[in-house]
Amino acid sequence: MQRIAVLTSGGDSPGMNACIRAVVRKAIYHGMEVIGINRGFNGFIEADMAPMNLGSVADIIHRGGTILRTARSEQFLTPEGRARAYENVKRFGLQGLVVIGGDGSFRGAHQFNLEYNLPVVGVPGTIDNDIPGTDQTIGFDTAVNTVVEAINKIRDTATSHERTFIVEVMGRKHGFIALAAGLAGGAESILIPERPFDFDDICERLMRGYRRGKLHSIIVVAEGAANALEIGQRIKERTGFDTKVTILGHLQRGGSPTATDRIMASRLGARAVELLMAGEKRKMVGIKAGQLVALDIEEALTQTRTIDLDMYNLAGVLSI
Ligand code: ATP
Repeated sequence: MQRIAVLTSGGDSPGMNACIRAVVRKAIYHGMEVIGINRGFNGFIEADMAPMNLGSVADIIHRGGTILRTARSEQFLTPEGRARAYENVKRFGLQGLVVIGGDGSFRGAHQFNLEYNLPVVGVPGTIDNDIPGTDQTIGFDTAVNTVVEAINKIRDTATSHERTFIVEVMGRKHGFIALAAGLAGGAESILIPERPFDFDDICERLMRGYRRGKLHSIIVVAEGAANALEIGQRIKERTGFDTKVTILGHLQRGGSPTATDRIMASRLGARAVELLMAGEKRKMVGIKAGQLVALDIEEALTQTRTIDLDMYNLAGVLSI
């Protein structure tokens, strides 16, 4: 294998840069050339790509976002768009592709491989942690730490003013961020899309806390679980507590990646290159119980990633 390409796709996540760096340097280490494709599959279709060298990825390991930029590509969903991308595979002499992104990006890579036989390896990069086949995705740890830091700050003001705070975090379909950050942040209640919530129980917990002298309460709500503003209003009406809502939004996507994300991104990126060198056709890499794993993209995409119910129940026990 002489020349491979790398792109980032879907929502950006902290640690994508560390992964790009690993792909580029590992490939160069083994004597290959690397083409960096800008703006995800859009750049693939539009030939927005250029060779990368050791210096192209210098000084990026600590930076959030992605130097290759990212996009969602309507065109790549069409056979015509993918045919144009294949023209660029031939034009640039690409023999393999590393796609860093979420499950949608993996679907695109998989489809492209089936049609044009270009070997592809997917690296899980999304803050959502919703990709099967890996215990953790690149960016999740940073996002959780960002939320916990925000909860710590909110806790200060919540305590000073004796307020209840509802903190809305990202997670339309899954509550991975809400659960991890809620547990780490000592939230009174955690609302996730995977579990129905009991409004009476939420209020009862607040009242119980108040009776034993608690000065503040934090409720973490995944955006897909409930409308945080509505929950705040209902709690205010039911309990009479001064209730405020904070929607963290896109700040959860940014920031310098944690050491955990940088290390994971470096290992996964390097393994992706090894898989291409080994002649694999359409794999994804992941981490299971601390070990690097590789599985067929297709197999990964048919699985669903489920929330750790023990952890969810524990959060409930610890916040009584
Ligand atoms: P995130 O989870 O952060 O949103 P993602 O990778 O899941 O990331 P998507 O927007 O779902 O983000 O997918 C990224 C891109 O992958 C899409 O915009 C599209 O170009 C391509 N893609 C997704 N599904 C397919 C498919 N079935 N065939 C071809 N391309 C696809």
